[in-house]
Amino acid sequence: MAETTIGIAELTAWLRRFRELVGGNRGYLTELDSAIGDADHGANMDRGMAAVVAKLEETPAETADDLFKRTGMTLVSTVGGASGPLYGTFFLRLGTSLGAVAEADATAFGAALRAGLEGVVQRGKAEAGDKTMYDALAPALEAYDGAVAGGSSLAEAAHAALEAAAAGRDATVPLVARKGRASYLGERSAGHLDPGATSATLLFQALDDTLAGK
Ligand code: ADP
Ligand code: MG
Repeated sequence: MAETTIGIAELTAWLRRFRELVGGNRGYLTELDSAIGDADHGANMDRGMAAVVAKLEETPAETADDLFKRTGMTLVSTVGGASGPLYGTFFLRLGTSLGAVAEADATAFGAALRAGLEGVVQRGKAEAGDKTMYDALAPALEAYDGAVAGGSSLAEAAHAALEAAAAGRDATVPLVARKGRASYLGERSAGHLDPGATSATLLFQALDDTLAGK
């Protein structure tokens, strides 16, 4: 029987796994950001997620809103770059949407991810094709919702989200950046992967890893 809910232990494991993936890809994310930005995306994400995991180790969260609100606030306060407030808002909205629960079903979790993306858009005004994290997040959520609507389990929906995020990430290569630092380069931003779309794909890789086999 496919798992249909995600509990606080798995939600916490998701953040830990994201921290591991960000740490392991720190150099790569920075290399991507050195081509079209200021070479700090790996350091930014690594510092932020390390701080998040340290706080969760000190005081484990018992509810989704506590887990994600602390995550969001920690990212906002420890990451100086654009990605801190953007990921911070994403997680804060996730917490608000889920509320004081210890587990969520696939629909509630999908609605929370959607609220997170809406927060990113409110904050950063990115649209499809602007060459930002939006270009990985938005297709991932489309795929997730489609999978859930088609009767997939949460784990299957997470896997579909990962594949769509990776495709969206890869599709940022030819794009000319219209938001963030990379937009200062104009046409010269084309021909490179977007760092934020790459870290956003790691977020779904982390979810897929956490739920794999369920
Ligand atoms: P900074 O650009 O301030 O150095 P980072 O290097 O940590 O911050 O993050 C850069 C990433 O942030 C970009 O690759 C892009 O995906 C994302 N980003 C930048 N501006 C926006 C925005 N307005 N909306 C969505 N994502 C954005
Ligand atoms: Mg940067």
